[in-house]
Amino acid sequence: MGFKLAIDGPAASGKSTISAKLAKKLGWNHIDTGSMYRAVTLVALEKGINLEDESSYSFVKDLDIKYEKEKIFVNGKDVTKAIREPIVNENVSLVSSFPSVRKELVALQQKAAQHGDVIVDGRDIGTVVMPNADLKIFLIASVDERTKRRYLDFINAGKEVDLSKVKTDLEIRDQKDSTRKESPLIKASDAILLDTTDMSIEETIKSIIKLINNKRGE
Ligand code: C5P
Repeated sequence: MGFKLAIDGPAASGKSTISAKLAKKLGWNHIDTGSMYRAVTLVALEKGINLEDESSYSFVKDLDIKYEKEKIFVNGKDVTKAIREPIVNENVSLVSSFPSVRKELVALQQKAAQHGDVIVDGRDIGTVVMPNADLKIFLIASVDERTKRRYLDFINAGKEVDLSKVKTDLEIRDQKDSTRKESPLIKASDAILLDTTDMSIEETIKSIIKLINNKRGE
């Protein structure tokens, strides 16, 4: 079966970075579910469909989403960079609010997480995708710290962005993700809350490894 680790939390809380590094260190698989919702959003934008109309997302079931060496491919095209563009950030919460879109992606995620030791990160992993995970972590950080992290991501990618806009965008996305009807962003009752505001990536990884070892020793 393997060890199933669920990591949820708000935007830019460090889930994907921590999960990727931890998976590499432990030799586990990592499924970044946010990148799947981003990929669907990108394709929807490219297709020019009416984003507000749930019935126009029937293309999702035929999408071929693949991961290779930290890159994501959709229908054979490398979209690793494109899914991080501001236009995707602005629309992904709307796209991920549709039950039919979630149904398709949750099925893919559950299938991918079936075998071996795996870290799955997202918003509804501990509540919906892996309710029976061996360990659930809800990762948070103050909004100012998350803004700083996301801002630096943009700067490091060579993008000019306005700090206050980055903050507003994060807040809007969190508000939408937390208040949507279908699988909202919420801490599972049995998840462990980890506040990383004053923690480095290495410190966070160390704490999670401790939690994994504690679970395994139970
Ligand atoms: O984690 P990331 O910021 O890349 O996620 C992008 C968006 O995808 C989130 O803001 C949310 O709207 C959606 N998402 C979701 N459920 C997940 C993962 C992401 O609804 N499990």
